[in-house]
Amino acid sequence: MRHEFTQRTKHILASRVGWRCSNPECRAATTGPNSDRTRTSNIGHASHITAAALGGPRFDSKLYKFQRRDIANAIWLCANCAKKVDDDPQRYGAATLWFWRQDAEDLADSEKGRPIDLIQSVRFASIQLSPSCMWRSAHRLLKVRTAHGGSPDLGFHQVPAHAWEALKLSTESHSLDPILDIAISNDTDRTTVISALGLVPLHVWTVLKGLPGAYKIPVVDKYAIDVTRLVPGVPQMLNLPDPIAVPSHGTGRYVLCLRGFRQAADGNETLIRLAVYANNANWFSRAIYFGLY
Ligand SMILES: [Zn+2]
Repeated sequence: MRHEFTQRTKHILASRVGWRCSNPECRAATTGPNSDRTRTSNIGHASHITAAALGGPRFDSKLYKFQRRDIANAIWLCANCAKKVDDDPQRYGAATLWFWRQDAEDLADSEKGRPIDLIQSVRFASIQLSPSCMWRSAHRLLKVRTAHGGSPDLGFHQVPAHAWEALKLSTESHSLDPILDIAISNDTDRTTVISALGLVPLHVWTVLKGLPGAYKIPVVDKYAIDVTRLVPGVPQMLNLPDPIAVPSHGTGRYVLCLRGFRQAADGNETLIRLAVYANNANWFSRAIYFGLY
């Protein structure tokens, strides 16, 4: 038997994401007027993250039936995206959907009560490592389980000292601190001015989206932030004496060295988000994993 969500669950689920599709590449509005004045027209769908019934997409046999119909197992999508994720559960796994939902709720929270032209002034479009540091992309991110049951899609690890020689790395030519090469986009009709940038240690994460690479965009500037002890939820920001202007429908790129990052982490596994401050708000990147040796 199928374990469906109640009307009340669906209403709360949709409201928590501003009645928009939770797919970060879609974000379609899902509700509007019907020609009958007493009705609305709704193209949203409360999809199951793990299937409502045996044989359905992403079915998890370990769940009890009350868990299958719980709001924790639901994501609000437009009709197109709902079909897409159920047709291809390999590509759209449960962890991906958990990230989407968390991201959509974060966005709805930051958009609530804000004029429409301030929405999405800045988007982290690409985050890469600079070749001048002793860090590499992490290949086994699936090992990094999060409190939400997912794992980050983007991550880096420090190169251990025993591998430096083989990789022709030395402390003279390469930084022990992570140096990130970051591209940001402005999707609005106005120039966005970034007046501070930095990072936030956290335990909220989602998938990377945006440009496939930063290298096509010229670097505007290089910055180093002196990272102090990492405390989840507490931002560490560098105020810019000379703000960065990101033109309307344009992109910007900066290089950021996280100076003293290794000493600032209490453990050897870290998740952070990058942040920029613009238009009186902080804007965050996807979550990034840093593994330390
Ligand atoms: Zn959609």
